[in-house]
Amino acid sequence: MRVLPYHIPLVADYGDGPYVWDVEGRQYIDLNMAYGPLIFGHRAEKIIDAVSYQIGKFGSQLGFPTEISVRVAEKLKQLFPGMELVRFSSTGTEACASATRLARAFTGRNKLIAFEGQYHGWSDAVFHRYHADLDDLPESGYGSALPGTLGMNGNPHNLIVVEWNNAERLAAALAEHGPEVAAVIMEPIAGNSGLIPPEPGYLAQARDLAHQHGGLLIFDEVISGLRVAAGGAQQLYGVRPDITIVSKALGGGFPVAAFGARAEIMNLIASRQVFHGGVYSGNAAVMAASEAVLDEIISQGDVLYEQLNGLGEMLAVGMGDVLSRHGIAHVVHQVGPIVSVFLTHEPAGRLTNYRAVRRACDFEGFIRFQHAMQNRGVYFHPNQFESMFLSTAHTEELLGIVLDRVEDACQCGWQS
Ligand code: PLP
Repeated sequence: MRVLPYHIPLVADYGDGPYVWDVEGRQYIDLNMAYGPLIFGHRAEKIIDAVSYQIGKFGSQLGFPTEISVRVAEKLKQLFPGMELVRFSSTGTEACASATRLARAFTGRNKLIAFEGQYHGWSDAVFHRYHADLDDLPESGYGSALPGTLGMNGNPHNLIVVEWNNAERLAAALAEHGPEVAAVIMEPIAGNSGLIPPEPGYLAQARDLAHQHGGLLIFDEVISGLRVAAGGAQQLYGVRPDITIVSKALGGGFPVAAFGARAEIMNLIASRQVFHGGVYSGNAAVMAASEAVLDEIISQGDVLYEQLNGLGEMLAVGMGDVLSRHGIAHVVHQVGPIVSVFLTHEPAGRLTNYRAVRRACDFEGFIRFQHAMQNRGVYFHPNQFESMFLSTAHTEELLGIVLDRVEDACQCGWQS
């Protein structure tokens, strides 16, 4: 991801608040935030203090249950009431793989349904070619997963991949495979093919369809959890899944993920019928970071999300305005502090799924735009499938500077 041929090389030296510096001493306004984890910015004081205190006074890797991990689980449950019991792991990949294993064990079924353009980590359980060429995608809107990489165990494995945001396609896939489907797993706000929010009512339809066929609904809130609302997309849209996965923002820059569900499901792990392990799962230094994040979220409440949403709106509207003024075709999507600026070949309406994004977007143009911005000290990822992330360390003033630099880049004609 970081050494792509079209990426201007950047070796990071250090970060502070909304900025990152490279080893040549150049400062960048960071709109990537390490792919999302840093909702309070680089080196957020409360997180660093909590981790330093934990390590200095108690240790990092204790090899036993700790009270701090119990407190983190309880605070997480306060925000995600559906996570009655919680397990920790170190990455989103592990948590997604464990969640799908749990769903298979609970239902006694083998198949999973996932969505085009969505990513749940690189495990054999769920890794599919999520950025497949349009020609490789089935006309019916669903089909067996295309393997995401060489070397997968089982090819194609028990994974059906469906077009996102289209309940009819999902209904058709379930009509064919329903009795074998353990779970429908989705990013409720798609974040790995650019940001694509769910269509009104879609999440509830998907939940009902999964349940009608006796399957579970899994929300992979690795990106959306604790970010679009304290309780993630499930709070924002009022749809509770059976199993939830959170990560990124939960660690504030430390490697943590959690998955949870109602006790009836999670007890399969507690009773050791389903295996879940990990030497570093629940590592105390990481838990200290998570507790600091959760304390901040719980104490700030709605104010925090109003702040993040306000910043997201300012960036989205501002970028859109500048691009419009310069006659550059684009579509901007934003939910809370997540923003996707899609540059398109021609004016386009809303882009509601991966196929639409892939068809409409000018990827080469976006790379030129990104290079112009990186050269002006603003960093976001050069692949427009990667969203921009804001944090509480960003300010309106800083975003004003970003917009001035976008204006400057457009005036200087990055387009040609
Ligand atoms: N799920 C989603 C939605 C993600 O965006 C990612 C990573 O970006 C993952 C799972 C995998 O997480 P990790 O890279 O921590 O294994």
